[in-house]
Amino acid sequence: MWKANLQKLAQAHLLRELSLLDSPSRPLRSLHGHDTLLFASNDYLGLANHTRLKQAAINAIEQFGVGTGASRLISGTLTPHYDLELALAKFTQTEAALTFSSGYATNLGVIPYLIKAEGIIFADRLCHASLIDACRLSRATFRVFHHNDVDHLRSQLMKRRTNRPTLVITEGVFSMDGDLAPLPELSKLAEEFEAMLLIDDAHGTGVMGPTGRGSIEHWGVESDKIFHMGTLSKAIGTSGGFITGTKAFISYLINVSRSFIYSTAPPPAIAAAAQAALHLIQDEPERRERLWQNREHMYQSLKAMGCHMTQTQSPILPIIVNDPQLAIEMSNGLQQQGIFIPAIRPPTVPKGTSRLRVTVTAEHSREQIKAAINAIQEVGQSLKIF
Ligand code: PMP
Repeated sequence: MWKANLQKLAQAHLLRELSLLDSPSRPLRSLHGHDTLLFASNDYLGLANHTRLKQAAINAIEQFGVGTGASRLISGTLTPHYDLELALAKFTQTEAALTFSSGYATNLGVIPYLIKAEGIIFADRLCHASLIDACRLSRATFRVFHHNDVDHLRSQLMKRRTNRPTLVITEGVFSMDGDLAPLPELSKLAEEFEAMLLIDDAHGTGVMGPTGRGSIEHWGVESDKIFHMGTLSKAIGTSGGFITGTKAFISYLINVSRSFIYSTAPPPAIAAAAQAALHLIQDEPERRERLWQNREHMYQSLKAMGCHMTQTQSPILPIIVNDPQLAIEMSNGLQQQGIFIPAIRPPTVPKGTSRLRVTVTAEHSREQIKAAINAIQEVGQSLKIF
């Protein structure tokens, strides 16, 4: 049965396989034993392999060991967890923060406690799988609004029975499209309809806003109806996720959130490294500047080449090729030239919108970006994509 299912996936050009890397996070890596330039990582600021993060992790291992041996509520809360949560609250300018072992676990551990079966959720059509799964887990009525379409959301909100607990969900920076949610309009709508607004800022944390505080800072939206979720796994260079809020809200989650309560606390080394990353983000704003310069350079070059792109406004630069087979052929063709850009296909993106998801980081050099542009041009032309 497994084999037959795999064959079906392969026939539809939707089979996925793991790529094996044997070097740390950086643009030039060893992929299946070959030196390859990667434009495929969410380590936007190049912190995952930074000396200060590594040293913080090593120090924490020396002091606390590797594993925590218990969940946070039993005996798994160590000083690095506590310090990281204080640092996150300060960084995001909120009262308190709670960390989880992953961004996925954060969404599962937050959304079902914001809203229950009697409530109704409106989520952007392109929301991440972890948000969708969390919505299902909440048992609230689930509705989807057209991507970034504030008018469609309004018309749906108007149809809702009044006084029903309501939650609107969006991403700050959309993970597969790289475009931004119109947070000022969404926040206004949430106020008007007395709805809560949850922003998953996995790809905005450390990247967006003058100080890297994320999409909320970028747009200047503040409201006690906004719930800000972020990850430590992308620009922060480590792993895990977090939610911010009032002290009462965080204490409530500590008491009820199942993915927080019933899971072993993340390694202290990860918490210590994440805290080091928060300091670095503030100490080295030039990293974010380099990221945006690289992003602009790559974006303008892809545009000039005639690539069909999304409305991206971030370092996620998708080239839409529609057909999954073409996406694989393009990705394979690039890999033969020493460039790795993954083909993203359904169900990660809607049918008919397969793409190459190019991501740039602060660590890419101009020469590396030029090499990618030349390869994309050559392979794209040979496949008649543009
Ligand atoms: N939300 C979004 C928008 C994401 O892109 C991701 C990761 N792909 C997650 C949540 C999950 O985060 P993590 O990888 O830390 O579990």
